[in-house]
Order: sequence, then structure tokens, then C-alpha cells
Amino acid sequence: MSAKKHKRQRANDKTVAAVSLGCNKNLVDTEVALGALASAGYIVGAEPCDADIIIVNTCGFIESAVEESLGVIDDMIEAKKEGKCSKLVVMGCLAERFRTDLRDDVEGFDEIDLLVGTSSYPRIIELLESGATEDFAPQKFIHTHEDPRFPATLPWSMYLKIAEGCSNQCAYCRIPSLRGPYRSRTPESLEVEAAALVGIGARELILIAQDTTRYGTDLVPKTSLPELLGRLNGMDNLRRLRVMYMYPELVTDALAEAVAKLSKVCNYIDMPIQHIDDDILDSMKRRGGSSAVRRAIETLRSYVPDICIRTTVMVGYPGETKEQYEKLIEFLREARFDRLGAFTYSPEDGTPAAGMPDQVPDEVKVARYNRLMELQQEISLRKNESLIGSTLEVLVDEVDEESGNICYGRSYRDAPDIDGCVEIEGAAEPGTFVHVKITGAGEYDLFGKISSPHISPMRAKKREMI
Ligand code: SF4
Repeated sequence: MSAKKHKRQRANDKTVAAVSLGCNKNLVDTEVALGALASAGYIVGAEPCDADIIIVNTCGFIESAVEESLGVIDDMIEAKKEGKCSKLVVMGCLAERFRTDLRDDVEGFDEIDLLVGTSSYPRIIELLESGATEDFAPQKFIHTHEDPRFPATLPWSMYLKIAEGCSNQCAYCRIPSLRGPYRSRTPESLEVEAAALVGIGARELILIAQDTTRYGTDLVPKTSLPELLGRLNGMDNLRRLRVMYMYPELVTDALAEAVAKLSKVCNYIDMPIQHIDDDILDSMKRRGGSSAVRRAIETLRSYVPDICIRTTVMVGYPGETKEQYEKLIEFLREARFDRLGAFTYSPEDGTPAAGMPDQVPDEVKVARYNRLMELQQEISLRKNESLIGSTLEVLVDEVDEESGNICYGRSYRDAPDIDGCVEIEGAAEPGTFVHVKITGAGEYDLFGKISSPHISPMRAKKREMI
């Protein structure tokens, strides 16, 4: 029996489990690492308590994420000590950030068999089988359509990572140092991957990157996000394209027009603004200042009147005065975002902001956070109430097995995991689209009944516009 056959036989019965922490970009990395292992004959998808190999894909973005990742690593080290697995692999941003210094924070560090950085995970098999203990390749890697993915999301809703890294250098952010400079995928590779994902059941593709609006500016020949959306919009069997992580200054008329006209592009965008005070934005090194934020919102709402805008803001940034905070509150009252996530500023060593004077006390940060979220709850409730009586097209994600007559899904206004959902009275298959008459509203969720299938209002309007 050839050595290769013996090796393959040996590999085939090894089971692999993964715990993926942090953002959806990290989740795609987990899918690529698992895809490589599955293609090499490993049995992927086991539970951590019942796997030969456990992979922890960590997050190292902010302190709370570091704590969570360290906690999971500790649990998996315990599992290994109890003989529940034979190999433990730690990858992702925490591994990249601390490398072997993790030894100082991780009791039982030696139980970690392989530590890999954010550009080394594609070589996970070679590293595992060569007995390597660590690898930190230069931050240049970005996967292509040739890298198999082992899906870790609902099969009808999948992420399409269109670029890696970030070159925006915001003063509070570690990501550029963990992921390297911005690098776009080619549109050709993205089209092949998108078709493959649709081929295995994806009906919604969610375009992600640290900054999706910068897409294609680094390619030769240059291209852009609107052009990419145009290429993907024609794909058969694909129903929704959703775009996350836009940078305000880079929101153009062409982009807003693409959202307005392309039938599969959701009237939904995610655009973190972080703040609205110009001195704060300047100190954060957020280009374009408050005028770029206001112009982006105006442009999007003028082209797409029913657009759903999600944003992210930060409170307690170094030097933030009560007046600057009140300005943010006033702006949120005026802008009335549909969806909003907020963070309290977290000083991350190695970032310019961490060394700035006038750090805001934690209790002040928390108080500002709580008041801001209370305001947003009111705004969100009013916005949701205004949808009562309308009919929305909803992608069903889950069925309440017990009742059998309740299911949960997402309209164009809901991205997975971060936004609300639509609770639907009526039976429907997960992964299918139904039209729902909205009968009730909460701060984050909507409630409704399945109504007779007909063309969704959004799609009808776009048809008119083509
Ligand atoms: S845009 Fe700014 S906050 Fe976002 S990943 Fe890049 S540097 Fe970090």
C-alpha cells in the first residue's frame, strides 16, 4: 500500500471541530481553513467535545474580545488535558496580535499544538502534518475561488469576503496591524465563488470586508463596488445581495444608484460613522468628517427613499466632552438610523488613541452608552411601527418546531446576527421567501402574517426603474 494511500487513510478518520469567534470576516477564514481540511479527507463539523482536532479562530480586536478568546482557549486546553482531543490549533487575530507572548496569558500554553497568524491558516494541513508549532506569514494572503470553503452559516445566506485588510488607519483600531494593508479580490474570482455558493444553496450573499467601499481601488485595472454589484446582480437563483461595512467618505452617487437600480441589491446598507463631531472624527483619523457622513446619508436616501441604514458609533473616545457627546445625541435624533450598534471606547495598546490624554472614565462611558441606546430604541420602535400594514418579502431562517405555525425570518432590513427579525404567523420552509403582512412592531423585531405571494414592493419599484 503506497505511503500516500496510507497517509490518506490515516487522514480520513480524523475529525475536526472549530470555534469561530469575532466578526463575519473571521468566520470566512474559519470556513476556508475547514474547507482545506475537508478537501484533504478530514471529517469536518464535529463537536469540540468529540473531535481529534480543535481549531479556535480567535478575535483580538478589543479587550473584551481578547478576554473571550482567552476564555475559549482555556476551555479547549482543559478539553485536551481530559483527552477529548489530540491536537489544538489557535488561529486568527489574537494569535497574530500576541504570537508566542500568549504564553504569558495562557496557562497550559504548551497544550496548543499550532499557533497560526491571519495569513498562515491556508497552509493549516501542511503545518499540522509537518509538526510545526507556529507560523506567522507576512499579512498578504486573501483567499480565492480556488480555496474550498466549508460553510458554517445557514446554507441560504452566506458571506462573500471581497477584500482583506485595511489601510484606513483609524486612530483607535488595531485591525490594520492584524490583517495588513487593504487588498481586493478580483471580480472574476468573486463571480466564480458567488456562483459556487449559489450552486450549493445560497440565495442571499452578504458582501463583507473591513471597508467594502474601497473595493477595487487597488486592482489593475481598477474597478469598484458598484461595478462588482452589477456583475453579481445578473446571477440566476441569487435573490439578495447585501452590503456591509461602507466608509462614509467613499459612498458615491454611483453606489447609491446601483443600490437603487439593481434588483437583487437590498435597500440596506451598513455604514459605521463612529461619531459626528469634527474634532473627534479628526482625532480618530476618520476622513471626510461630519460633512461626508451627512452627504452619504443624503445621497443614499435621495436615490433609495426606503433605504434601511445601519450604523455604528463610539462613545467615550479620548477627549470626548459632554458637548461633543450631546452633538452626537442630537445628530442621532435628526438622522434617525434604522439600525445602530454602539461601543464604549476601549484603549488598545499600540494604537495612537490609547496614548492620548483626557481618557474618559469608564462610568461616564457606560452612562453615555446607556442613554444613547435608550434613544435609539425609541427611534427604532417608531421606525418599525411605521411599517405596520406594509408587506415585506422575508427570507425564512427558522421554524418554531413546537408550534409549527410560527417561523422567523429576515426582510431586506435585517442582516443576520446583528439586526432584528420578523416573527411570522404561518408555516413556511426555511430558506424560502414569503411575503408577510406586517401587523405589529417591537423595538427591534416585526410581527406579521404570511400574505398571498405577489411581487415584493421593493422589486416592483426597481423593475419600473430599469
Ligand atoms: S476602517 Fe478603521 S475601524 Fe474599520 S477596520 Fe479599518 S482602521 Fe479599523
